[in-house]
Amino acid sequence: MLQQRTLKSITRAVGVGLHSGQRVELTLRPAAPDTGIVFRRVDLPQPVDIPVRFDSVCDTRMASTISPGGDPGAPKVQTIEHLMSACSGLGLDNLYVDITADEVPILDGSSASFVFLLQSAGIELQNAPKRFIKVKKTVEVREGEGARLMWARLEPHHGYKLSFQIDFNHPAVDATGQETTFDMGSGRYKQEIARARTFGFTKDVEAMRARGLTLGGSMDNAIVIDDYRVLNSEGLRYDDEFAKHKILDAIGDLYVAGRPLLAAYTSYKGGHALNNRLLRTLLADASAWELVTFEDESLAPTGFAELAPAW
Ligand SMILES: [Zn+2]
Repeated sequence: MLQQRTLKSITRAVGVGLHSGQRVELTLRPAAPDTGIVFRRVDLPQPVDIPVRFDSVCDTRMASTISPGGDPGAPKVQTIEHLMSACSGLGLDNLYVDITADEVPILDGSSASFVFLLQSAGIELQNAPKRFIKVKKTVEVREGEGARLMWARLEPHHGYKLSFQIDFNHPAVDATGQETTFDMGSGRYKQEIARARTFGFTKDVEAMRARGLTLGGSMDNAIVIDDYRVLNSEGLRYDDEFAKHKILDAIGDLYVAGRPLLAAYTSYKGGHALNNRLLRTLLADASAWELVTFEDESLAPTGFAELAPAW
């Protein structure tokens, strides 16, 4: 049987929030089968639990933000997508995330530090079948027209693969690989995706700071690009680091479904908002998906049954 997974032990991290600039502590703890991933705001007078679900997402403008039931007035946690991506990449089903502020720390701007933390704590197999959301029908969402067109799609696929195309019309970005694909069954999430950092343009920074955003951003946690080039002295970590980060984000955004997907995902210029709309569109149509388990591991997609790297 393909089993659910949690952590073997407790692990902690300290960092700053990308948008809030606030210091924040994270404590990642094992959770029982079928708990899912639950954030707990432990800084409030009464701790508030925020289970990660597709409908707990309440804001997708700069990052994926969740609150209980998606209520915009309730306590929230923002920028969950990189941690969620790491959990998906390691196949973690059940986890408590105690957090002392309203934003997950940005760390180095990728999910590599989260992967390291989770792997250091160890992964434990649990005595419950892992449930997947198997996509049975193609679902697509679109936004904008002409040069502003963006779309995202899920199609039936025995496995989980993602493909992303960006088009920034910027010399530093266009010189890199703008289209990239990744197959989760390869077990190479940590090597191929996790190190891709978030990125930002200097021309946007002032406007965002004036709105109280990216207060914690720096070249230590993002690729920073001016009108012509990448300013980080160490350059890029992958030739196609921008497109890879979009895949890293998509993996995190889609993992708020609460279960891993069996699907092929493709997006052209999409982002957090479109990814969440795609998930809501899928889950709203009961004929477009079903929950499946693999009692016989040999029937699972290639690479899914291995313990170490993925799933
Ligand atoms: Zn990101």
